[in-house]
Amino acid sequence: MVSVAFLNPLSDKAEQIVRDIGDLSKIYDKNSDLIHAVDTSKSQSMSDNQNIPENYVELAIKRMEWYIKKKNDKNYNYKDYAFLFNREITRFDVVAFFILAQAIGIKFNSNSRESKLFVDLQGNIIEERLEELSISERRDVCQKILDELILQDNVKWTFLEEILSSKKISLHELILDKGEIILDKEDFLERFSDKISHRNPERMYELLIGDPVKELIMIKMIMQKTEDYVKKVNEMSQKVEPHPYLLEVGEKISKILSENIKYYTTSHGGMKGFKLNSEAFPPCIKLTLNGVESGNRNDAIVLLLTSFLSYARLYPSIFRDNVSVKISDVDPELKITQNEILPLIYDAAQRCNPPLFDDDPQEKLNITAKLGFGVHELPEIKNEGESKWYTPMSCDKIKIHLPALCKPDKTCKKIGNPLSYYKSKSWQLNKQGDNKEKSSKDKDKNNVDKSKSDQDNVNKVINPSPDKSVKNTKEADTLNGSDFN
Ligand code: SF4
Repeated sequence: MVSVAFLNPLSDKAEQIVRDIGDLSKIYDKNSDLIHAVDTSKSQSMSDNQNIPENYVELAIKRMEWYIKKKNDKNYNYKDYAFLFNREITRFDVVAFFILAQAIGIKFNSNSRESKLFVDLQGNIIEERLEELSISERRDVCQKILDELILQDNVKWTFLEEILSSKKISLHELILDKGEIILDKEDFLERFSDKISHRNPERMYELLIGDPVKELIMIKMIMQKTEDYVKKVNEMSQKVEPHPYLLEVGEKISKILSENIKYYTTSHGGMKGFKLNSEAFPPCIKLTLNGVESGNRNDAIVLLLTSFLSYARLYPSIFRDNVSVKISDVDPELKITQNEILPLIYDAAQRCNPPLFDDDPQEKLNITAKLGFGVHELPEIKNEGESKWYTPMSCDKIKIHLPALCKPDKTCKKIGNPLSYYKSKSWQLNKQGDNKEKSSKDKDKNNVDKSKSDQDNVNKVINPSPDKSVKNTKEADTLNGSDFN
């Protein structure tokens, strides 16, 4: 039977495991039981010893490595990490989870990409572990976890408010009746059987709710609890001196993440800085750069322009690549940010009516915060991760919050975000540029070919054919008395 701790490391069962093992001084000790569990995992590749974690810390790092590779590496091989999906690993995995959660909570804040990646990893590992179970095991363990997570029978949708507002789940994925979330089959049949005609109500339950919705809620609730736990550790770490081993693991995680994200994004062509092409800016950005009247001014500069210019200059493919990046991944010394991006934003801010910083100097700090460097006067590496690097808001949101700036043109019809506009228009302009260059090259080539062909024609007139020319030369030579035969 599969333990709930295999899927939910924050369950009572898992906490018991940690209490039984819980001695941080042993987390670097070689653990033969762990090695045996890894060795005997079905499909586990044993070709490289580096794949085999020998202690809790190595297992924790392998968890991170697995997720980064799975997300980014085209050559990712499930067999290198098959041990993560072996239920026999549960008691080691639970400890590895807590090592990671605490190391991340101590070193990074809850908005950091490290924390987000860890929460996503947890959701993903549960999904994959579910795939390894039989249908009955899957159903059984999911129900047990939900019973533990949702202690009441009738769950109001507000119970999931935190998950809904963090967009881990959306209301349209749930079936509600009188504000209550319907998960249980009996409950569904009782409430809706007499309202469903021409269809089998049980079949309708399977279609609308069934196992998928229950699993979705279970996974998202565990992700939310993981996020809350990391946040709690972060708050605690301000008051209590962290264990040096956990600080060490935090450093390792930071190093692994930066190296891997740089490797997968830079060397695989995803992330490079791109010179800005103002011709490709969408109408809303062009208007903002010219300065905005009070009313729309603060949001236009702080929310729209700051995120647009920073991503357009540093990482225009962010929506396509869907990775978690920091500005320093692309601009390690922040030179581009300080010398190119900020001056453009500050100039536009001063062009507003009244000038933004004269009126509201605090907004300079908010611009720094939107770039991911917390509420400070200027971006500095030491503060990076205190806030999130915001992506530009969608056209729909701009139409609602900044309607005066949205003056759509032809390109706007095809896109949903100003950054997508910029990518699409830059591509069009580059293509036009290439075509122009090609046609001017073709023109030059034609001119060369034409002058060559004119020359050939002239030659043809002088020498109608090479043979004739030889003959003529011979004739000429003969005439000149050069042929002595
Ligand atoms: S449709 Fe979008 S990109 Fe175009 S002007 Fe409006 S907000 Fe800007």
